[in-house]
Amino acid sequence: MLPRRSYAHKIALSLPMSRYAVGIDLGGTKVEACLVDETRQILARKRRPSEPGLGRERVVRNIRELVVDTAGGAPYEALGLGTPGTYSAADDVMYGAPHTPLYEKPGLISLLRSELDAPLVVENDANCLALAEFFAQCHGRFSTVMAVILGTGMGSGLILGNRLHRGPCGNAGEIGHNSIAIDGRPCECGRRGCGEAYLSGPSLTRRYAELAGDALPPDKIFALHEAGDPHARRVFDESCRIMGELFANCVNTLDLEAIVLGGGVSNIPLWYDRVPPVMATALFGLPGRTVPILKAVLGDSAGVLGAAYLALREMRLMEF
Ligand SMILES: [Zn+2]
Repeated sequence: MLPRRSYAHKIALSLPMSRYAVGIDLGGTKVEACLVDETRQILARKRRPSEPGLGRERVVRNIRELVVDTAGGAPYEALGLGTPGTYSAADDVMYGAPHTPLYEKPGLISLLRSELDAPLVVENDANCLALAEFFAQCHGRFSTVMAVILGTGMGSGLILGNRLHRGPCGNAGEIGHNSIAIDGRPCECGRRGCGEAYLSGPSLTRRYAELAGDALPPDKIFALHEAGDPHARRVFDESCRIMGELFANCVNTLDLEAIVLGGGVSNIPLWYDRVPPVMATALFGLPGRTVPILKAVLGDSAGVLGAAYLALREMRLMEF
């Protein structure tokens, strides 16, 4: 028998060292970071204002200081960053983020890279949410899902065959700007009839205000719906149909197995009961098929966790 001390020493040598990655969720008003290990556990999570009004250098400094603070000296090997818009690797710039114009300016991401001491992977924030929710509730059960963020806008991320599908230009999954009525309501993007022009939080508020005169947030409109208010009923009857048709278009195109719904407007319970039957009537192919709508389970940690997964993939600790 080996002496106890020598045996323990052998075990210690055979245990792998922990490996660390950092996820960053850069939003219009705040930036959040998390430190994860190779088991995907969040070890630390912090946030601070992003302060885009104070300029690019200030935003980069805020991110760098937050990363140092969150990592707490852990030797992280890579960082992932999620932010609104479409990331173009060709010129290292974000595009299509009208609510955060500073982040679209060339040079922000390259300046950030120069201030960080590990490789940085950049991705659209809806893709980060899709990744986190996919691994939280779909992996092993469904291989092909769309995760939709419904809040001030409507975006989505696609996981097709267990892989994040960002498309050659990083622009895949812009479900909010698919038109369901070519002469329909005007959208902020300039087109008409976009899903976002009906289903985003501000769009629900506008549609209810046009009928009833009061500009109310979606949860208040839902409360009125439950109380029998006819205008609220009309808004949600139409919205469930519109969402069902829009999602059915996506299922018919991509053969999705499930749709995950996150963001502030995902808290309306009607979507989960009333939209799948609308979709079922619009699905092509296999008879009797229903595609579930799953509520996002990670809350506001999905974005920052998905960003960390980008870094773990860079470290070859995750595959997607
Ligand atoms: Zn649009």
